Amino acid sequence: MTATATDWRSLASSVDYPTDLLIDGRWDTGASRHEVISPIDGRVVVDVAFADARDVDRAVASARASFTDRRWAGMAPADRKDVLVRWSHLVNEHAEQLAVLTALEMGKPAREAKAVDVRACHRTLRWYGEAIDKTLDEIPNVPDGSWALIEREPAGVVAAITPWNFPLTLETWKIAPALAVGCSVVLKPAELSPLTALYVAQLGLEAGLPEGVLNVVNGSGLDAGAALASHMDVDVITFTGSTATGRAIMTAAAQSNMKRPYLELGGKGANIVFPDADLDKAAAAVAWAVTYNAGQMCSAGSRLVVHESIKDELVARVLDEVSRLQPANPLDDDAPIGAIASAKQLATIHGLVRDGLGEGGRLLIGGEPVLTETGGSYFPPTIVDDLRPDSLLAQKEVFGPVLSVLSFGSDEEAVTIGNSTEYGLASAVWTNDLSRARRTSKGLQMGTVWVNCYEEGDLTVPFGGVKQSGFGSDKSLHAMDKFTNLKTTWIELS
Ligand code: NAD
Repeated sequence: MTATATDWRSLASSVDYPTDLLIDGRWDTGASRHEVISPIDGRVVVDVAFADARDVDRAVASARASFTDRRWAGMAPADRKDVLVRWSHLVNEHAEQLAVLTALEMGKPAREAKAVDVRACHRTLRWYGEAIDKTLDEIPNVPDGSWALIEREPAGVVAAITPWNFPLTLETWKIAPALAVGCSVVLKPAELSPLTALYVAQLGLEAGLPEGVLNVVNGSGLDAGAALASHMDVDVITFTGSTATGRAIMTAAAQSNMKRPYLELGGKGANIVFPDADLDKAAAAVAWAVTYNAGQMCSAGSRLVVHESIKDELVARVLDEVSRLQPANPLDDDAPIGAIASAKQLATIHGLVRDGLGEGGRLLIGGEPVLTETGGSYFPPTIVDDLRPDSLLAQKEVFGPVLSVLSFGSDEEAVTIGNSTEYGLASAVWTNDLSRARRTSKGLQMGTVWVNCYEEGDLTVPFGGVKQSGFGSDKSLHAMDKFTNLKTTWIELS
């Protein structure tokens, strides 16, 4: 089906999806109900089940039972692979439904959700499924008379707690490698975006995931999330979300059973542009990096760090680019950017922009919510110039389409400004000088550095942060290590 604007609207009113918790392979009404409100127009989409600590206990018990009897971990690797690959195909077959649910629950354009988020979900399930029967364990060289094995064993019960900004992508980056190695999983999606998680889980059952191997507990962070983080029978917790919540999860893990935490947290990405860069390419990427997903991206390029000699020229080009990227209804097939995920998030963005202007920043474009008559939450691309690198707007993660402009005089200063926040997730360097590109990328304390591009990559490379952006990357074969324990068996031969 070729999706047009009319298709998305009619699909939005006819799409059918589960709204309960998934516990032990069955849909479960849970402790209470909670409204999912669409940021498109502020209307209630549906009521979903909301888990409390007792529901979380039942989900963990179900995951534990399914792990202990090895109904999944003990299945032939090629058979586990078949389930994940079949699941990935089902995701593809339901791409439009998943895309429209993404638009409804968190406001990104449905067209984009299909092209990016659904595709990422499909490819991630397929990639880790394909990896299952191609990864090997190790036999070290030991003295004659002995024999040793180094095996990667599935860690057990994995809790995955995820945010709303790329619901499908980020959930799958966690559950696919965890399931691939044989773990059982309890997923808690964000309060704002449970619908896609439930839909994908339903497809997993259809693909042949045994009961209890994947459980989904929608719920609040303070109830269901905290219950998972402090649970005594969860072995590994993998989290994507804010740095503040990451800190709470790490504390809860330490104070309960010392489950292993992996944390993918906030960021304050920079596009660092040198005078010898291709300015047309850089301007388009700077505009894209701060407006894509309405700026609600951990790796958003929310700082432009530009050499003083080209600042005016580059900023003029970026202004031209962003003026064409105005928000529109996410169900319009040509919406350049969609809604902000919630009214609360909109107020946070607006407040941070006002703080930046109060700190002496100069507003070049945007700055106020738009489309207010729709009842939805929309914020336009916003650029604030004349900020100091240590100003709050240049330091804090805004999670909206807001660009802080900073300038530098020397290559060393560019690196210093790039590293000047508490975060270390991702940034880009723009130059046609290979030595300068390498020097600068080496100097940046980031999990990812792009050179002459932004947000490029595929599943073969890890994605994760350093400093207060967290630790324990998603993606690549390395992600599978998070969900395994190394086991040594040493045998003395007679
Ligand atoms: P959030 O931290 O508020 O919530 C994330 C998840 O944690 C949700 O499911 C929430 O219910 C849960 N949660 C909240 N409090 C909890 C608690 N005390 N215990 C356990 N769970 C709890 O983040 P958000 O607003 O949903 O997402 C935006 C944040 O996510 C941004 O900071 C962004 O940078 C970050 N993010 C990081 C990456 C990355 O890969 N590094 C990717 C996407 C988003």
